[in-house]
Amino acid sequence: PCTKGVVMAETKSTCCYCGVGCGVVIEHEAGRIIGVKGDPDHPANFGRLCTKGATLHLSAAPDTLIARALHPELRSSRDEGRQRVSWDTALDTAADKFAAIIAEHGPDAVAIYGAGQLLTEDYYVFNKLMKGLIGSNNLDTNSRLCMSSAVAGYKLSLGADAPPCSYADIAHTKALFITGSNTAFAHPIAFRRVEDARKANPDIQLVVIDPRRTDTAEAADLHLALLPGTDIALYNAMLHVMLWEGWINRDYVDAHTEGFDALKKTVREYTPAMAATICGLDRKHIEQAAQIFATSPATMSMYCQGLNQFSFGTHNNSALINLHLATGQIGKPGAGPFSLTGQPNAMGGREVGGLSNLLSAHRDMANAEHRAEVAALWGVDSVPEKPGKSAVELFKALQTGEIKAVWIACTNPAQSMPDQALIHEALKTAEFVIVQEAFGHTETCAYADLLLPASTWGEKDGTVTNSERAITRVRAAVSAPGEARHDWAIVVDFARRLGTRLGKGELAARMFPYSAPEEVWNEHRESTRGRDLDITGLSYTMLETVGPQQWPFPEGASQGKVRLYEDGIFPTPSGRARFVVTEHRITAESPSARYPLHLNTGRLRDQWHGMSRTGLVARLYSHEPEPMLHMHKDDMERRQLANGDLVKVKSKRGDVVLKVVESATLRAGQSFLPMHWGGNTMGGQGVNVLLPSDFDPYSKQPELKHAAVQVEKYTAG
Ligand code: SF4
Repeated sequence: PCTKGVVMAETKSTCCYCGVGCGVVIEHEAGRIIGVKGDPDHPANFGRLCTKGATLHLSAAPDTLIARALHPELRSSRDEGRQRVSWDTALDTAADKFAAIIAEHGPDAVAIYGAGQLLTEDYYVFNKLMKGLIGSNNLDTNSRLCMSSAVAGYKLSLGADAPPCSYADIAHTKALFITGSNTAFAHPIAFRRVEDARKANPDIQLVVIDPRRTDTAEAADLHLALLPGTDIALYNAMLHVMLWEGWINRDYVDAHTEGFDALKKTVREYTPAMAATICGLDRKHIEQAAQIFATSPATMSMYCQGLNQFSFGTHNNSALINLHLATGQIGKPGAGPFSLTGQPNAMGGREVGGLSNLLSAHRDMANAEHRAEVAALWGVDSVPEKPGKSAVELFKALQTGEIKAVWIACTNPAQSMPDQALIHEALKTAEFVIVQEAFGHTETCAYADLLLPASTWGEKDGTVTNSERAITRVRAAVSAPGEARHDWAIVVDFARRLGTRLGKGELAARMFPYSAPEEVWNEHRESTRGRDLDITGLSYTMLETVGPQQWPFPEGASQGKVRLYEDGIFPTPSGRARFVVTEHRITAESPSARYPLHLNTGRLRDQWHGMSRTGLVARLYSHEPEPMLHMHKDDMERRQLANGDLVKVKSKRGDVVLKVVESATLRAGQSFLPMHWGGNTMGGQGVNVLLPSDFDPYSKQPELKHAAVQVEKYTAG
């Protein structure tokens, strides 16, 4: 009991930041969150939390209420400010606008843009609204910016979007390749496991592949500081070495894969000497990496945006998976390609089909059989065949007027999308912009014609799925402030109103009967029956009593699967995994005389995404108080720059002004910017104004990891 005589209560939930998905215990009293600690029973973290998770309660402190969206707000014209309105007025207006646009221009004239921070139940109803009731596939999310290349890579190589490993494999591995991920900063609790495993077994070899000498790379036995975007050349050369040295697992290749001969022909060209030149590496290090990968009894890779965020991100993934298949390093303890998800529920979003090319339960929109199955599940005549717009395409279509209205939920594209000038122009041009947000201060909120206040962490109920396919409950500890509502409930209310206006009132009532998130989840569960992610053996009750569970978990099973493909059978038509022929390609922009530096972007230790939540916690600024351009000392000397000088960083698309700092983590010719600061916090343009919107042809994920820039000392005026 607390001193005021009010009983302090504890509610178990999940951290809302990264894809590690740590369990938390929320301490609250009298309707206020007052503390947070790690859940000792949660298999993702066993009680540990990083700096971000451990300060979650501070992001919900009373003084942060000022940052919250508390009431629906509407403006009647772009020249006016928004006025507080009732929920009825807000949702009637939204339904009127969407119905009028659909009637005049068709269903593809509206779009929804969501986020990997939405819960699975929220995602499910948004997807059903757009693809089922409205009849368009124009639903995409910010997962397009972080994980879509991993999705496409898994599907292309292994046949399904299913990470084959678990965090528990870290303790079993003998060689860990961390590539394109500063795990120590971006997934800190997963990295604690790596440290624990190496303490317990000092023979585990850690190889880190990253252009920067990050904290993760500092811990490595071998750090390959390759030039940005040259991963494919490196992996192909490693395969070349494995072939030359006879390190291929022929038995595994013959029994469980297809397409190896075509790949063999391709990698013949990728000699270590050639790759050393392309990657800027020592050929001996390439050979050493190949030997470690192929000859270790168990090799695992963990990877993230450094592979995904390139205009060839899918093949970056496939080239790495090729190595696992060629050596049989998959489907056994401590082995396999493990994609780390950036967001807390990027995985759950994929499960319900929350991208413009996906349908429920890992079905493909391009597959007629899958469309028919989903139409039957939802009780609609059909699900549209026409491809929906992916993130970049969606905002381009908004800018040209092809899409007239957009509903943005739980994300901040005015800061997080590349080529910011285009995104801001698109939001200005749009006829009607709905923003559904917990935090009313984001850059995107400034463009909202209608602002819908949403509940957030600590206030909402549902489920999320973390990087290792573990479904975890998210629980409400307190009520949402003001008039904020739960995301799924806003969608359901809107859907019924829109249905009436479209002459589909009865259908909408049938499609959206839910009064609690569990009802939504149960329907999602049924949609997975017989699919690779079958969770028909799970229930909310089981998640409550037994704790997080990994999929697949079909009816009748007693537990989920820690590891996939142990039997060597893959979900492809032949049952075999596929080698994908991958070739080195150059980045969308190469350094030139005018823009001579590579720019790399990434996360800091104590901030998360656009800082709409971490930015509210003063303590989290002590690590890095402001955005700074990190540069090599030679590049600074050449420009007569000293630490703390203001510089203008310019790409073909725009510029930002900020301080510069010398960094020993970079090679000459490279620079680095943290991704977190937007125009609001930098007093002008945000970091992403510099990045190109070129995207991967398979995944449509944009190249947020690289631009060519020039840097010069900034003098005001
Ligand atoms: Fe939250 Fe990720 Fe930190 Fe865990 S590692 S506490 S999920 S931010």
